[in-house]
Amino acid sequence: HGDFSQKIDYVFKIVLIGDSAVGKSQLLARFSRNDFSLDSKATIGVEFQTKTIVIDHKNVKAQIWDTAGQERYRAVTSAYYRGAVGAMLVYDITVRQSFDHIARWLEELRGHADNNIVIMLIGNKSDLDSQREVSTEDAKEFAEREGLFFMETSALEATNVEPAFVTILTEIYRTVS
Ligand code: GDP
Ligand code: MG
Repeated sequence: HGDFSQKIDYVFKIVLIGDSAVGKSQLLARFSRNDFSLDSKATIGVEFQTKTIVIDHKNVKAQIWDTAGQERYRAVTSAYYRGAVGAMLVYDITVRQSFDHIARWLEELRGHADNNIVIMLIGNKSDLDSQREVSTEDAKEFAEREGLFFMETSALEATNVEPAFVTILTEIYRTVS
């Protein structure tokens, strides 16, 4: 765009984790490309997507890693977590099991990641409220107990997706600046 040259002040690696089919890849597609697909196949090949936003007059590049379907085989490796300064722990509000598994994902995350990683709990598919199996209150309580940020999102309707990423990036920025 003209002579606007974008100097990147920070690059923050964020990892997406959570059970298969909770909407991790669609959250990433929505945030990075404002895109959504209802029949998204297991992510193939793509390791991460980037998006640059401005925080406090600084250009902050988010490098957001997606699991490429490995969560099915519990083969998310330590390389995936290496260097991550943020993590989004995603469950599906219509699948109780995906929320019950969050404790396990959190344990794995805390075992692999840096101590001061910023963690955000995300209840995705808020558009499917009539099929809800996880109350907002339960999730909020869990997040408070574990010291996590929390938001419900809909990648389909683009509800809270940008605010969720901006919140985690702003919190990361605060911890490093
Ligand atoms: P992943 O395995 O966690 O990466 O999940 P995907 O992003 O591939 O999504 C799994 C399925 O859920 C796909 O059919 C998506 O279209 C659908 N999906 C993802 N996000 C939403 C959402 O916010 N609302 C609804 N209704 N469906 C969603
Ligand atoms: Mg995926």
